Amino acid sequence: MDSNDLSNEEDITHGDKLHLLKEQSFVTIAETIELVEDEELTYETKTKKSNSLEEGTKKVEQQGKVGTKSVTYQINRENGKVVNKELIKEEVTNEPITEVVLVGTKEVSSKGSGSFGWPAVGGTITSKQGERWGSFHKGIDIAGVSNKTIRTVDNGTVTAAGTRSGYGNQITISHNNGLTTTYSHLASMSVSTGDTVQKGDKIGVMGTTGNSTGIHLHFEVYKNGKLQNPMKYL
Ligand SMILES: [Zn+2]
Repeated sequence: MDSNDLSNEEDITHGDKLHLLKEQSFVTIAETIELVEDEELTYETKTKKSNSLEEGTKKVEQQGKVGTKSVTYQINRENGKVVNKELIKEEVTNEPITEVVLVGTKEVSSKGSGSFGWPAVGGTITSKQGERWGSFHKGIDIAGVSNKTIRTVDNGTVTAAGTRSGYGNQITISHNNGLTTTYSHLASMSVSTGDTVQKGDKIGVMGTTGNSTGIHLHFEVYKNGKLQNPMKYL
């Protein structure tokens, strides 16, 4: 009445245009729909102890991967408004992959065991310690390897890793038990001064840097600073 400027219902006559204040629905439109959605499944992480890994180090043995599930919801709507959402079906479409992390338990010691391993991967001794070409050959030479990896013969601390006249790239390792070993003519070095190394660790690659006539390792041993014959220890 107010919005049409009328004071009496009887004033409405045929042909009048009337304004309606608001629409109101007297029927409820109810609908039920099913909605299917893909959802992520998180993966678990498990740890496993490993005595081949050094204490304090971790390594992912198996990378974790999220899975997926297909989730079906039943949704009830009334006049377009959601009044109820119910989960009715869940189906794993891709199982997640558990992440496996190895935790090292191997004790790290910089003290040598006193028993030497071989500093190369195979190969033969091509020159021993002794007089050679009018000078004294202080160590032994190892050559003829198919894999040029150079390994530390025992646990220890790297006390030098750099270029030295005649020796080329040279690594010196103190085994912290009076014994020191040197590895010379290396093509490359994978340790630095101060590093702790474990018997058998890769420290570099065999090469022919410095005064050298071919690819080989020149290996020297010292005991309390005095040159030793490496053959006594290998
Ligand atoms: Zn030599």
